[in-house]
Amino acid sequence: MRRNLDYLEKKSVSLEINNDYKIGKIIISNYSNKKSNERNQNGHLITVKKVKRITPNMLRVTFYCPSLEEMDSSRQGAHCKILLPKPKTSLKDFKEIISIKPKDLRIDERPTRRTYTVRFFRKESMEMDIDFVDHGDEGPASSWARNAKQGSYVGLLGPAFPKIRDFYAGWYLVAADMSALPVAAATIEAMPINAKGVAVFEITSESDKQDIKAPPGIKFFWINHPNAHSPSIAQLSFIKELEWKTGIVQTCIAGESGLIKQLRNYLIKEKFLPNQDTYISGYWKIGLIEDEHQIWKNSQNN
Ligand SMILES: Cc1cc2nc3c(=O)[nH]c(=O)nc-3n(C[C@H](O)[C@H](O)[C@H](O)COP(=O)(O)OP(=O)(O)OC[C@H]3O[C@@H](n4cnc5c(N)ncnc54)[C@H](O)[C@@H]3O)c2cc1C
Repeated sequence: MRRNLDYLEKKSVSLEINNDYKIGKIIISNYSNKKSNERNQNGHLITVKKVKRITPNMLRVTFYCPSLEEMDSSRQGAHCKILLPKPKTSLKDFKEIISIKPKDLRIDERPTRRTYTVRFFRKESMEMDIDFVDHGDEGPASSWARNAKQGSYVGLLGPAFPKIRDFYAGWYLVAADMSALPVAAATIEAMPINAKGVAVFEITSESDKQDIKAPPGIKFFWINHPNAHSPSIAQLSFIKELEWKTGIVQTCIAGESGLIKQLRNYLIKEKFLPNQDTYISGYWKIGLIEDEHQIWKNSQNN
């Protein structure tokens, strides 16, 4: 049994534990050797530098992320997993917990995990911005962001790569609610300067509009929907009214899963958009926490 306790500094974990092994209060079960290509499945500790309410219902948390030294700004718009510390878990124990792949922890030891989007990454200062919808204290992630201050910390898995990296369409269709504003904004900002298309956003209040550096050919539409928990098909109705262009259409569409299901049906079955041009994803679902939503999504694919 050998354990390298310098993993945080060296950023390469070397654990060789074959039997159940106890570290403080944490029990690692049947842990086996980690290979370097699995490293991204282990959490990195990231700490809060500042929190800013950028619009009434959106909090921008700026994290200091020295463990992302190999990353660059091309990951803006990629998703990542945030691991939230349980109350009363010490920093030392939390570092231990996130250094272990979740599947190797007992269920009650696993930190709460939520999915977010890299809005900005500044390599020179190793800062990453993540925009959290403030939807109250009911969700652990939203609640964490509301209470976060300089020095607060979470674990990070990823980031992955952005879903849309090649822009080849004659016309783009972007649709997002507040949870998908970060991916939509990062995607629009990555588009070529001659891109043309439409972006329709559903926001909680008029003041939740954001400035997005878009190519001049992208037209913006903002729809107010004050109660995110009451289903809305305003974006679907809006899209159905659009004059449809011929040629390749690429989409970046995400938001509440009830709406997304209807939008997907419309775009795939009525507009015949091919899968490879169509990023469309449910980011949350009214009445379900993220883990339940994931189970629901998997059941829809079967
Ligand atoms: C690929 C991907 C990228 C994402 N990126 C972002 C991002 O950058 N920023 C962001 O804010 N969200 C993002 N989300 C959505 C986010 O993961 C969910 O909103 C998540 O459920 C929030 O966790 P929570 O702990 O706050 O709430 P949960 O514990 O999951 O849910 C608690 C309650 O809050 C409700 N709820 C969840 N999300 C919202 C919401 N947005 N508005 C209103 N009610 C809600 C649920 O229906 C449930 O009733 C992303 C999701 C995916 C799949």
